[in-house]
Amino acid sequence: MSKKVKIMLVLCAILSLGFITTSMVSYFVARDSLTHQISTDTLPLIGDNIYSEIQQDLLKPILISSLMANDSFLQDWVINGEGDESKVTNYLRNIQTKYGTVTSFFISNRSFKYYHTSGFFKKISPDANVDQWYFLAKKAPGTHQINIDYDQYANNTLTVFINYKLIDSNNNFLGITGVGLALNKVLNLIESYQNKYQRDVFFLDQKGKATLHSSSFSGNIDLNHSLADGSTIKDKLLTQKSATIEFWQGDKKILLNSRYIEEFDWYLVIRQNSQSIDNDLFDSLMLNLLISLIVTVVVLALAWLTLSNYQSKLEEMATTDKLTGLNNRQMFDPILEQRFHSAARQGSSLSLAILDIDKFKSINDLYGHPFGDKVLQEAAQLLKGAIRKSDVLCRWGGEEFVILFPDTNADQALEIVLKIQQLFSEHQFSHQQQHFNIQWSAGVANNTAKDQPADLILRADQALLKAKNNGRNQVIVS
Ligand code: GH3
Ligand code: MG
Ligand code: MG
Repeated sequence: MSKKVKIMLVLCAILSLGFITTSMVSYFVARDSLTHQISTDTLPLIGDNIYSEIQQDLLKPILISSLMANDSFLQDWVINGEGDESKVTNYLRNIQTKYGTVTSFFISNRSFKYYHTSGFFKKISPDANVDQWYFLAKKAPGTHQINIDYDQYANNTLTVFINYKLIDSNNNFLGITGVGLALNKVLNLIESYQNKYQRDVFFLDQKGKATLHSSSFSGNIDLNHSLADGSTIKDKLLTQKSATIEFWQGDKKILLNSRYIEEFDWYLVIRQNSQSIDNDLFDSLMLNLLISLIVTVVVLALAWLTLSNYQSKLEEMATTDKLTGLNNRQMFDPILEQRFHSAARQGSSLSLAILDIDKFKSINDLYGHPFGDKVLQEAAQLLKGAIRKSDVLCRWGGEEFVILFPDTNADQALEIVLKIQQLFSEHQFSHQQQHFNIQWSAGVANNTAKDQPADLILRADQALLKAKNNGRNQVIVS
């Protein structure tokens, strides 16, 4: 596996690990804090809101009933012997029309007569099952009681009755009066709370039985379910004025908030399971991971491009001579090796020339080293233009160049090098107003059956030395 691929794998592992860890950690932290916030802030707040709406919607009938129970007319009428029944009927009818209740009633404790908006309805009896509500309400502590029952007068429709005790100034119990609300109306209220707040809303009585709930109510709570602190739901929910409970039911976390509503003697409970929180957060976790994946892919692609770019630049730097842009020696060696062996295999001729500028030092001395560089660059371009595409030109070092001529015998190579000499003799280099030529000495060698690549270079170099020693500006074939 290449180093580049290894780096990419490590980078991919680091990015993935980092992204996945941060996404998961923030998912769990968010889930915990959101769940906590919902149970400590949101649900109690919803409880407050519903309670204040209840006060408007449901306490009105209680107030009306209390008004009736404290009305001196009703007390006087009973104390004066329940004379003209039309008076009480009128009174009840007035209440009904004025406040828009389903019914209004009065039961006298002395006569056990049940008065209704349309008049005397019936006489209640301690022995009749349907009348037991009266005797229970009479015995119940407090001023009033809420009772859901069938309205015997109105086709037995389920009705929420407010039973208020009528008590005279001497604390004598005179009977029970109050109004009735259609249960449907109350249930619609609960339904509307539930839709508005998107939570389960219901009432529990003192025994923990759900008294009023919406149509989608998902069943009673297991009150004996034990909580983390060893207590049960019942201990928390039905003993305190308000309570917040979190517990697990299967794989779902349930959040409950309850508050005691004194007027009803019931608990208002708001319930939410954490599934909805989880779903939302899970979606955002997925989105996070998707973004992380995209970022990872983009970063990896950029890293790959950058690495490839650097790698090719490094390779170029390692194989190219910076000054002239020609191949350098590192590059030349393997090419020579390869061409040499392929020529040996094919039995073709391969020639090599080493060219060295004569007295180059004097150019540097005369015009300065930077200009010397320019001369080398210009010379390199001229050399390049003078050879074939298949020939390989290399800056061997300093002011020495090597040319490898494939499929070329010594005579042909000599011919080319002489042409190069000719070319340079006609080419003028210019420094300010001064013009001059450069001359080359060169050694040429051709491959033989006994040769190794190094032998070819050695012989060309020896020939070059000979050319120098012979007075320069000449080409010698070894
Ligand atoms: P000859 O080969 O004819 O014997 O004489 P020469 O003066 O060309 O040879 P020598 O080897 O004595 O000097 C080569 C000079 O080339 C010395 C060095 O300063 C110069 N040289 C080598 N590389 C560079 C280069 O990259 N830029 C410049 N400006 N000069 C260079
Ligand atoms: Mg030289
Ligand atoms: Mg030299």
